[in-house]
Amino acid sequence: MRLFAMAVALVLAGTSPAPAQSPREADSTQRAEAREIFRRAIAFNTSVSGGQVPQFAAYVQGLFRGAGIPDSDMLLVPHERIASLLVRYRGDGSGARPLLLMAHMDVVEARREDWERDPFTLVEENGYFYGRGTADMKSGLVTMVATLLRLRREGFTPNRDLVLVLTGDEETAGLTIQQLLRDHHDWMNADFALNADGGGGTLRESDGAPLIYGVQTAEKTYASFRLTVRNAGGHSSAPRAENAIYDLADALGRVRAYQFPVMWNATTVANFAAFGAQRQDEIGAAMRRFAQHPGDRAAATTLSASPFYVGQVRTTCIPTLLEGGHAENALPQSAVATINCRIFPGVAVADVQVQLQRLAGAGVPVTVIDSPSWSDASPLRDDVMRAVAVAVHASYPGVPITASMSSGASDGLFVRAAGIPTYGTSEILMKDGDDFSHGLNERVPVMAFYNGLTHWRVLLTELAGRR
Ligand SMILES: [Zn+2]
Repeated sequence: MRLFAMAVALVLAGTSPAPAQSPREADSTQRAEAREIFRRAIAFNTSVSGGQVPQFAAYVQGLFRGAGIPDSDMLLVPHERIASLLVRYRGDGSGARPLLLMAHMDVVEARREDWERDPFTLVEENGYFYGRGTADMKSGLVTMVATLLRLRREGFTPNRDLVLVLTGDEETAGLTIQQLLRDHHDWMNADFALNADGGGGTLRESDGAPLIYGVQTAEKTYASFRLTVRNAGGHSSAPRAENAIYDLADALGRVRAYQFPVMWNATTVANFAAFGAQRQDEIGAAMRRFAQHPGDRAAATTLSASPFYVGQVRTTCIPTLLEGGHAENALPQSAVATINCRIFPGVAVADVQVQLQRLAGAGVPVTVIDSPSWSDASPLRDDVMRAVAVAVHASYPGVPITASMSSGASDGLFVRAAGIPTYGTSEILMKDGDDFSHGLNERVPVMAFYNGLTHWRVLLTELAGRR
């Protein structure tokens, strides 16, 4: 998934830094090499139906083999029809614990007949690279890989191991990251992780000036629950007081009337301070007030009235599916509602279930669908936040940097849940209107791609360079 900081950028004020410069560091040789890897990467159809994740992983492994990384420092882990790839770029052993570099190889389905261009051919047109996975997230994967290859060629030895973690099913089940965390602790044991699949920045619609950059430090937990009412049923001409549909409706009414408590963490406060400073409206004022007085009742009420911000200050639960009854002339024997929740970081799924059960009542059992993973927010580490600022400012001088929480979940959620602080720091800054991730004609600005080479180079030398 790729999530931009927030939709708020649409109404940001007119003051902002100069437009982005082209990168100084990424020379034309590296650009050409990165572009060629990008071309090859897009050509692998790594959607579920395309099934080419293992081939793509083998291709990337071949690149590192060619750069002199020994096979003993790489692990291609098969998982049914997909795979994941681990590559260890060894440090000098001076002590710092390893750093994980995360990306996913898979993409969302794309049907040729629906697209204007072949989704699996990289096309450069009018300042954009088009193709499935350009934005989500082969641009990030490729700029990361190309940077590691270049650093290797230049003889760079980091002060800690850099472990590249390429998963195979982030867009679907997320099983490969869970497998790696479960079975390959020796590779995954790290100080922290940088995830190219999260965070990123926004450019102004009118002129492309950079507005704000968000480091993704938290993700809400996605969990769904089922509320079920069962009943003996009977003939509809002989109704009884208890009725599965009425009972379910009453339970849903109580869920509707309930609001989960207002919550915040360091990310919430930093995010509202940064975004609040940039907007003059009522929402901006509420953000500033909330940042100054976390939990402020009036501010929370204003933010909660907006569908864009309610999820930033509390857990939300909302019914999304409904089924019930079996015949027009029969008393319903069952009525079932599905409730989808986006749970605030740090809150256990079981605690939300307990609350929903309390609201639903004894006759309406509430069950969890699947087995959702949950995690807390990562701390806003000074070293990471500072390094991201240096990296982003290398191409976009002066753009404000903040922390952000996304409302969905990526592989990063599982890594955080395993106790590894995780920072989503995509190399992409783009206009909200250019974001077609998961959609038709997905694209990434050419400049964002090449700036990505600078982004990763600065990040890695800042966070793993010898002082
Ligand atoms: Zn993604």
